[in-house]
Amino acid sequence: MEFSDHKVFVVGGSRGIGAAIVRRFSAAGATVVFTYAASADAATRLATETGAQALRADAGAREELIAAIRDAGPIDIFVYNAGLLVFGDPLTLAADDVERMIDVNIGGAYFGSIEASRLMPDGGRIIVIGSDTADNMPFTGLSAYVMTKAAVQGMARGLSRDMGPRNITVNVVQPGPTDTDMNPAEGPRAASMLGPMSIKRYGTPDEVASLTLYLAGPQARGITGAMHTIDGGFAA
Ligand code: NDP
Repeated sequence: MEFSDHKVFVVGGSRGIGAAIVRRFSAAGATVVFTYAASADAATRLATETGAQALRADAGAREELIAAIRDAGPIDIFVYNAGLLVFGDPLTLAADDVERMIDVNIGGAYFGSIEASRLMPDGGRIIVIGSDTADNMPFTGLSAYVMTKAAVQGMARGLSRDMGPRNITVNVVQPGPTDTDMNPAEGPRAASMLGPMSIKRYGTPDEVASLTLYLAGPQARGITGAMHTIDGGFAA
């Protein structure tokens, strides 16, 4: 199988897109470790279903995340999926919510990627799940979230330079509206989400997982420092 003999570490794998990534890597023969913060039952069910190992570690708590990654030993493929979205008018959005988005969406992606890279063999992969809203933001109430997703674009460009000499690639997968708990296809915001899309259909977590596996595979060894949008044309 394509990912036999590979260890994959997925940060934020208990639900949604992260769970789809855990499923696909597990099915492809990888040894998968994934973290979760709040959804212990979902994490346990997914671990039983796939054979992956579930670890509780808050991605926004630097030392906790670093300890979990260090304990896993050498990681071939590091996927940072954990993400938090709090909508709100910037004039009234709680500063604590903004700081938490910064910690989870940016801080965890940066510190996690660096820690994973320490023991990563040459040719390893770092993939961060960003958002197409970093390229096209047609809505109000998302400034802080989009700030965090734009930040990981710069991070990936920079880290691709730092890690290029070891043939480690660093990429961002940028989903558009994708049917998960964060953005349900039947939810109150769904109609407005479909508006800017060329193909007016929510994506599935499995579609995002497919692109992630491609970037982790041998054919993608020359792709780095790049953004990969999968959004039905939302950002077109
Ligand atoms: P969900 O809210 O459905 O799932 C989020 C996952 O991240 C859960 O497994 C959750 O675990 C985990 N997570 C969240 N915070 C933490 C934390 N502090 N520590 C560890 N794990 C954490 O989100 P999606 O699957 O929709 O989103 C996945 C990624 O895709 C995010 O980065 C999101 O920003 C991005 N994205 C999603 C889009 C969409 O339309 N769905 C569009 C564009 C980007 P737990 O419940 O255990 O805390």
